[in-house]
Amino acid sequence: MKEHELNILMYHSISEGSGPTCISPHIFKEQLAILADCGYQVISLSDFVTWKGGKRELTGRSVVITFDDGFKDFATTAFPELQARGWTATVFLPAGKIGGVDDWESNRSGYLSRSLMDWKTIQELADLGVDFGAHGVNHTDLTTLAPEIARREIVESKRRIEEHTGRPVISFAPPYGRINAFVKSEIRKEYLLAVGTQLDRARRTSDLYDLPRIEMWYFRYLRPWRTYLKQGSSTYFTLKQILRQLRAHVFPP
Ligand SMILES: [Zn+2]
Repeated sequence: MKEHELNILMYHSISEGSGPTCISPHIFKEQLAILADCGYQVISLSDFVTWKGGKRELTGRSVVITFDDGFKDFATTAFPELQARGWTATVFLPAGKIGGVDDWESNRSGYLSRSLMDWKTIQELADLGVDFGAHGVNHTDLTTLAPEIARREIVESKRRIEEHTGRPVISFAPPYGRINAFVKSEIRKEYLLAVGTQLDRARRTSDLYDLPRIEMWYFRYLRPWRTYLKQGSSTYFTLKQILRQLRAHVFPP
């Protein structure tokens, strides 16, 4: 990995369910073990901002770990694995859904609801060093909303999380990674950074309000994950090549 590039990993649920928002606990554990084995350290999003601004250099290889949606299995399954390694993560919360289920998925065929963490658990995790970011109030595509309603989603999610954790919220993840010029300018007024769903490594030159991430579902096969991490001086295209190979593996021609 070049010094001016950094992987921001994106997870959702760590569970046995099907679909791209689930990674099994066993695979998650192995992905972390491979990260450690390849000599990576985990840094926080605020450390990332300092690095991106050129105010700090990183010694060795670093990644940021993020989880979208605040599933209950973050607390029960993912966090113990991270804690055992002394690693941190940022969890993006749809503030109006906390203590409920992922009902924004309910239109999907075969939908089985998944529980989200409650505020008490979130507060305990914040006390243990987990960083929480905002993911809107209702997990709605902000680009489809009237400006005032979109703005409320951006402002109100931050306010509620800060109220419950007692800590500043610096980061935002727009639901579905969807932004437009207006949404972006409103996020910029409230937050230090925003992460998106565009698949790439983050660089010092990346847009701080639409930072690319690595969707870890693509790396549920462990060999390509190790290969990807090991390529210290990889080119921009390596990630795309690995993904092409993976697609061929998943959907044989
Ligand atoms: Zn989401």
